[in-house]
Amino acid sequence: MGLLEGKTAIITGAASPRGLGKATATLFAEHGARVAILDLDAAQAEDAAGDIGEDHIGLACDVTRKADCDAAVAAVLDAFAQIDILVNNAGITQPLRIMDISHENYDAVLDVNLLGTLNMSQAVIPHMRNRRTGSIVNMSSVSAQRGGGIFGGPHYSAAKAGVLGLTKAMARELAPDGIRSNAICPGFIATDITAGKLTPEMRVQILAGIPMGRAGEASDVAGCALFLASALSAYVTGSEVDVNGGSLI
Ligand code: NAD
Repeated sequence: MGLLEGKTAIITGAASPRGLGKATATLFAEHGARVAILDLDAAQAEDAAGDIGEDHIGLACDVTRKADCDAAVAAVLDAFAQIDILVNNAGITQPLRIMDISHENYDAVLDVNLLGTLNMSQAVIPHMRNRRTGSIVNMSSVSAQRGGGIFGGPHYSAAKAGVLGLTKAMARELAPDGIRSNAICPGFIATDITAGKLTPEMRVQILAGIPMGRAGEASDVAGCALFLASALSAYVTGSEVDVNGGSLI
């Protein structure tokens, strides 16, 4: 029996074929969940949902737009009648140095990574509160903890650190309502967000800082998301879980 039988999950930014969201959606579906994949493009989201099986849906949703988030949650409730799990996975990076960040750059990165997490959480919380159950899983990053990823940009580090603060604040405020909130801090994972953005020298430098000596796989992060989404982590809230091959040791 799957760990998520009878559960319904929303995963944002989950249409990217090699991404963490798609891997998480696939694993959740394997464990019995019905999954709603949200992403910028409706056709890509629908295709991704079709890839993981028949019972799932794909919807267009720009997480920076509150109205999109509210509409997507309403559509998921129409389709599935309940929402047990929200994975705030949508994210973007910009490989900029501190003095090169414009206000437009800052807004773009903060809006997707941090405001998007707030928007989607606000959209599902009333429903989760009514049912007195829910698990919110937020994708932060090792960049938040180390103050820099090579390719993410300082504003990305700031946004992902903001995600950690929001995760803990939501955990504290929502615990009496039966809602848990946790964050995952992936290290260097091979997905489209990293593809083509690293020189061979950067890659060697990154791998040298990982005790396990390899980049992570999307499935490594999906396994952690499954733990945090399921009853296995029933007493875990406000945590940040590192999935980084030992990068912070
Ligand atoms: P990815 O680029 O493969 O996928 C990101 C997805 O987010 C894409 O499908 C994209 O269309 C979607 N997206 C972008 N803006 C959006 C918006 N406004 N609304 C809805 N969807 C939007 O990236 P990934 O590597 O799978 O990363 C997933 C998450 O994990 C991100 O939050 C990222 O910051 C985080 N992360 C990734 C790594 C890594 O090494 N890959 C490390 C740490 C954290």
